[in-house]
Amino acid sequence: MSDWFDVPMPTLYIVPTPIGNLEDITLRALRTLREVTLIAAEDTRTTRTLLQHYSIETPLTSYHEHNKLAKLDAIFAALASGDVALVSDAGTPGISDPGAELIAAAIERGVRVEALPGPNAAITALVGSGLPTDGFVFLGFPPKKSKARRDFLAEIADEQRTLIMYESPHRLTETLAAIADTLGERQVCVARELTKLYEELRRGSASEVRAHYNQQPPRGEIVIVVAGAAPPEIVVWDEAAVRAALRAAFAANEPLNAAAKRIAREAGWDRRAVYALGVDEKVDVEACDDHCADSP
Ligand code: SAM
Repeated sequence: MSDWFDVPMPTLYIVPTPIGNLEDITLRALRTLREVTLIAAEDTRTTRTLLQHYSIETPLTSYHEHNKLAKLDAIFAALASGDVALVSDAGTPGISDPGAELIAAAIERGVRVEALPGPNAAITALVGSGLPTDGFVFLGFPPKKSKARRDFLAEIADEQRTLIMYESPHRLTETLAAIADTLGERQVCVARELTKLYEELRRGSASEVRAHYNQQPPRGEIVIVVAGAAPPEIVVWDEAAVRAALRAAFAANEPLNAAAKRIAREAGWDRRAVYALGVDEKVDVEACDDHCADSP
């Protein structure tokens, strides 16, 4: 599968597969699955259904949570003579699915690894949620036990980026309650059964969405997207407070440039305005020193 100018080198392909809708597979993923000599699959029955749908007859071997270490040698033996594709039950291998250890071991042994882009529930939910996408944190599955789950959420309470987590339908309402209690009444989006017949994206505050699912217990697969924490409110200082902070900085021998930058950030002021006040204060405090030559 290498181009003519490459040195032919067996490759481990990481191949994402649909998260529900069988049409969500790329042409390249299908070609790769057809051309490799072996497919390592999390569940060979699930993957066989996909392969049959696309008339692909590549041999399969299992690679799952419970045999993933024992299987490494067999997969590397196959890689000695041909390309291997890694697939999980659904979505992108390695994302809350087996794969990470195999990929790390392949890199360690100098095997070429190529990750194909494709379906992933977290990204699909994030984009559909309407919550900010410029920065986000993927948390995988939160802990199952109530106390551990609350501690886990408390640890990320100040995170300002959008949070994404996977959850089982049985724990959804408990987790939404923990989100409301620990993170406050944030906007959430519960993305359920993405790309499938009964796809649903339910948006609202954590308590509103929880109330809905208390009435109608959810089924199927679920991603929870949660708005990040609001940035801390900056209380803008008055001039007297800025001058006092500058005097304290000078008393501690902090250079004017550094003090102006720090105080501006804390005071919600423009740095140049703080600097100008600093020059004024300095003239009062002492005739002039090296800092007078500093420029903003
Ligand atoms: N590797 C997969 C990926 O790339 O998204 C994730 C595998 S993880 C074992 C399975 C979890 O992903 C489910 O419990 C659910 O939280 C989420 N998930 C997978 N498919 C989904 C779908 N169609 N709709 C909503 N969530 C889904």
